[in-house]
Amino acid sequence: MSTLSRQHRKRRPAHETSTARGLRLLSSQTVEDNHRDILHEREAGKIEEKNGRIKNLVREILIELGEDPKREGLRRTPKRVERALHFLTAGYQQNVKKILNSAVFDESYNEMVIVKDIDFYSLCEHHLLPFYGKCHVAYIPNGKVVGLSKIPRLVDMYARRLQLQERLTTQIAKALMKALKPEGVAVVTEARHLCMMMRGVQKQNTVVTNSALLGVFHDDRACREEFMQLLGHRQMG
Ligand SMILES: [Zn+2]
Repeated sequence: MSTLSRQHRKRRPAHETSTARGLRLLSSQTVEDNHRDILHEREAGKIEEKNGRIKNLVREILIELGEDPKREGLRRTPKRVERALHFLTAGYQQNVKKILNSAVFDESYNEMVIVKDIDFYSLCEHHLLPFYGKCHVAYIPNGKVVGLSKIPRLVDMYARRLQLQERLTTQIAKALMKALKPEGVAVVTEARHLCMMMRGVQKQNTVVTNSALLGVFHDDRACREEFMQLLGHRQMG
């Protein structure tokens, strides 16, 4: 089967689309993952050297909570929390240009590129509690493609900030739209929020789903359905 034209692909029934040749369906579990974590840690380390104040503030919080920051188990906690917070928000020190631009290539390939099941961990900006889950990203190139390992890195960059799931989803989509000027970008995130699970409504198994659909994914129902089918989802907002 040869590469299908855009028009051709649009007319095909949705149930056939997953057989399209040339579809790049990837899992994010690559060696690159370890590499990027090491990089993040290094970056986080640099910031930490500049700023030792969080440690003292965490110590104050422990006291306010009625704890004794001098007891053995807590003695090194402020330092650890500071380090963790720098790591978890290292996305503030990164930008899209740095991550993507060295890996954007001219390419005439114009089938849907999809990267599924990118794990992400973020902090909700309302409670500073984690929300975490999977992110799925697809785009249809229009002359430019990006190295696939860069997409999980982009997700990490936005996830490692104080976030709302809706904003995280939109930011990833808009960044790709801007950098690649593709025919369209689709991003879906599915996440569990500890602020819902541990407190408040205590809904243990609620998974919140958000999507951002730009370009043809927004305008063309068939395109959107193809994407959702590839994700194995039945419904679409
Ligand atoms: Zn929250």
